[in-house]
Amino acid sequence: MKIGLWSDSHNFPNLPIMKLSAYHKSIGDDAELYDHTKHYDLVYASKVFSFSPDIDSVYPVQADEVRKGGTGYCISVINGREVYDKSKDSMLPKEIEHIYPDYSLYPDYSYAVGFLTRGCPRQCGFCVVGKKEGCFSRQVADLDEFWRGQQEIKLLDPNLLACPKHEEILQQLSFCKYSFIDFTQGLDIRLINKDNVYWLNKLKIKNIHFAWDNPRQDLTEHFKTFSELTNVKDVRRKTVYVLTNYNSTIEEDLYRIYTLRDLGYSPYVMIYQKEACDKKHREIQRWVNCKFIFHSVKRFEDYKPNYK
Ligand code: SF4
Repeated sequence: MKIGLWSDSHNFPNLPIMKLSAYHKSIGDDAELYDHTKHYDLVYASKVFSFSPDIDSVYPVQADEVRKGGTGYCISVINGREVYDKSKDSMLPKEIEHIYPDYSLYPDYSYAVGFLTRGCPRQCGFCVVGKKEGCFSRQVADLDEFWRGQQEIKLLDPNLLACPKHEEILQQLSFCKYSFIDFTQGLDIRLINKDNVYWLNKLKIKNIHFAWDNPRQDLTEHFKTFSELTNVKDVRRKTVYVLTNYNSTIEEDLYRIYTLRDLGYSPYVMIYQKEACDKKHREIQRWVNCKFIFHSVKRFEDYKPNYK
């Protein structure tokens, strides 16, 4: 069979697509990234984002069959809130989910990527993880399922520290030979303690990410504790995602941003439903995320956006 593989992921390899490619090649099919000028027996379309255009938005798909999957197909926006419909979602069959990904699909990326754990108990209102993967974090794979000596490892785990086995996992990671590891989805600062930071300190982490999404929760003490325990001292290597435009006022957004900066972290603003936010949210995002502006203009009130 001739298989076409499409995804809406840009600047990052799509993991389900790489696994589907590996599976089809293992049973003798031809698999390649989708080319709209060709005809395929079967096309897989994987969508991560609800707002991105679909595979057939510009050209009709030439294929005998098209199978669509991914969170992006299961979210609709109702009254300004994203609603996830699990009944529309489809998981990969076990034999494909646990196959070694076909990294050759994305020759521009040299890192290994995958999940060691799935699920999260937090149930944040803006996040689909609990509904999609379950409200408890558990180990789903060993590193060798998707890593064979690549220099860099990118983990996609939603909440690794919530997994009861996380110290064992961190310990195993500390024994592997790689150059850098990246917890792309961030670590849960509320679960940081002396024991797990001991193991985190043994890893080669380029940039550690956390999040401070809920303005009603004061995480100051947790961030102070981490700063005392970690050997990551450079502010540029300690990034904290700050969610705005979701149940927070501008004052609450600025409070989190100023507090994090004063504690020696680098805030990074994410806007919920960016398409529907007001101008001020975009201005705050630009002020914070353009680091040369953020470091030269200390207070948002003094920031003068330059509209052309
Ligand atoms: S802690 Fe993170 S992964 Fe868990 S529900 Fe909240 S946003 Fe999602």
